[in-house]
Amino acid sequence: MKNFLFSSKIFKGSRYGEGHPLNIDRVWPSLDLLKIMNWVSDEELIFNEPARIDELTIFHDIDYLRILQKAEKFQDLELNEKKKYNLGVGVNPIFKEVYSRPASAAKSSMRAIEFLASGKAEKILNFSGGTHHGRKNFASGFCFLNDCILAILKAKEFGFNKILYIDLDAHHCDAVQDYFLDDSNVQLISIHEKNKWPRTGKIEESKINNLMNIPVPENFNDNEMLFILDELIIPYCKALNPDITIIQAGTDSLKDDPQSKMILSNSAYWQAISKLKDISTKTLILGGGGYNPYITAKAWAGNWLVLNSKEKLLQSKLNDECKEILRSLKWKNSRVRNGIPTKWLDKWIDDEVGMPIRDEVKGIVLYIQKIKKL
Ligand SMILES: [Zn+2]
Repeated sequence: MKNFLFSSKIFKGSRYGEGHPLNIDRVWPSLDLLKIMNWVSDEELIFNEPARIDELTIFHDIDYLRILQKAEKFQDLELNEKKKYNLGVGVNPIFKEVYSRPASAAKSSMRAIEFLASGKAEKILNFSGGTHHGRKNFASGFCFLNDCILAILKAKEFGFNKILYIDLDAHHCDAVQDYFLDDSNVQLISIHEKNKWPRTGKIEESKINNLMNIPVPENFNDNEMLFILDELIIPYCKALNPDITIIQAGTDSLKDDPQSKMILSNSAYWQAISKLKDISTKTLILGGGGYNPYITAKAWAGNWLVLNSKEKLLQSKLNDECKEILRSLKWKNSRVRNGIPTKWLDKWIDDEVGMPIRDEVKGIVLYIQKIKKL
């Protein structure tokens, strides 16, 4: 057996608190859907405990990690500590598992690299990971740690020297870029919505050797996504021939996610991951953003099938048990004011709407092809 699904039991019932966009269940319902369908076996599913502080100091500052533990223990911090670490203020709340939960996601991502390096695995999915905004000494953008950076550092530690990181989240992977800027062993590619927080990831930065930033306009559609992949990303990545690929697969680029104006169907999202997962033999697929619990659970469950090249199984209707799991999810959002739309409950695959590839998107591809001499 070469493929594994990594997760942690701590995610069951863990939420960020009332009013927060992440006051929703995502990891556990994704797993439940897979279990109900018998799409994952007990041997394939590995639960990890939180990483210890000394495992996280390969990237994070020890004083920040201790503050996270203190925040978890006392469920509060001094005001000066809150401000210094951006914790318990703004969008990064102190919640019950504020150290243990991100440390579990980080452990899964780091351990996944160990499995891939030793040959124990070829493909691993950790949809609890993908926290690409976390900084070494403060919280940022709902992210307390940065498992993406930790995974890349682990890969370097294990001797991989052509590491490819591809970020499909609607937001730019600012912290990952800042840390690995100009690192010739790490190639970073990000597709993200233009002018969206954190407002980094400019296209001009693609002039930097190890960066490819692809900021896309609002209403970014399926055909545009597939065009960028086929004309730009896939040929570029194949030429790069990486030893290991890490894919951040946030679902906030999907239509009906409240945090972005991108409008991809899950079909285009899965096709993208399917094309990217075989760029190298060894691949780690992470989660990331995703603020509509219904479409996120289906998308991440589907990623396990995509990883195993079994996506044909998704061409069915959802059975009653799966529908029940989705119906039980709590979400305070105007999109469900009149009940959960049937299209989210009825079938796995979204309807695809054939939309044109706009000139702006063609221009982005031409611009980057020229810079990268493709
Ligand atoms: Zn995001």
